[in-house]
Amino acid sequence: MNQLIRCTTCDKIFMKTASDQWPEYDSVAVGSPGPYREIAKDDFQDFLKDHRNHPMENLQIIEDSFVSEKPYSEPTKTSYFKATNGKERFVIRKSRERIEEPLTYELIRGDYSLKLLRLEIQAEEIMKQLEREWKNPPLPRSKGEAFLNLCRRILKTVDIDHLERIPEDSSLPLETYYKMDEVSLAYLLRNCRNIFEGREYKEIEAFIHRHKEDGVLLLKATYGILIAESEKSKLEPLRVPHALNEKMMIEKK
Ligand SMILES: [Zn+2]
Repeated sequence: MNQLIRCTTCDKIFMKTASDQWPEYDSVAVGSPGPYREIAKDDFQDFLKDHRNHPMENLQIIEDSFVSEKPYSEPTKTSYFKATNGKERFVIRKSRERIEEPLTYELIRGDYSLKLLRLEIQAEEIMKQLEREWKNPPLPRSKGEAFLNLCRRILKTVDIDHLERIPEDSSLPLETYYKMDEVSLAYLLRNCRNIFEGREYKEIEAFIHRHKEDGVLLLKATYGILIAESEKSKLEPLRVPHALNEKMMIEKK
């Protein structure tokens, strides 16, 4: 079990790993305790030395609170999770700038939430798919554009809280896909009659049915991590490198 230790005087954090041997180098094969072992042990000793006579406490990581702007597998990234000492909750910022550097943990007093940055249609993907499937004769570009504009109009009226989220295999944790609701689909089909006629209408209708469940017609939402620091931390010098006043927005790249 990993142990998250907080110095209550300085609000510094140390992540002590199960073995306290290879906290950052767990890919190193067991049985070949190279120089890493020493480094890791020294780190914790240094931490204890730096905070001698300061009261320490264990923090418990709050399950499922992990968020990051990059894929989980990405070694260099910033991520956040929540932890508690039973009385207070903290946000822990975990980061690594370069792959050869150890992870750093910083405590932030406050909370974070996910904020919707954008809801959009997959315009490029829709167009490509139309071109791929619509062959003899090819769909005129202008009709494709008109269809996209129709899809965009849906964005103005949908309520994301009432959309069904697709359990995605997207590796980007802050990107989420939603199904268009029935009302939107009906609107789309109805208005397609103004663009497509006869056989073309049949084709676009089939296209919509083919792609509404898990295809290019899913709506794409992008979230950002919004950190709200509490009053108390503003009185102390901040240890978050690029913290802005009260709030900090990390937008997914
Ligand atoms: Zn301390």
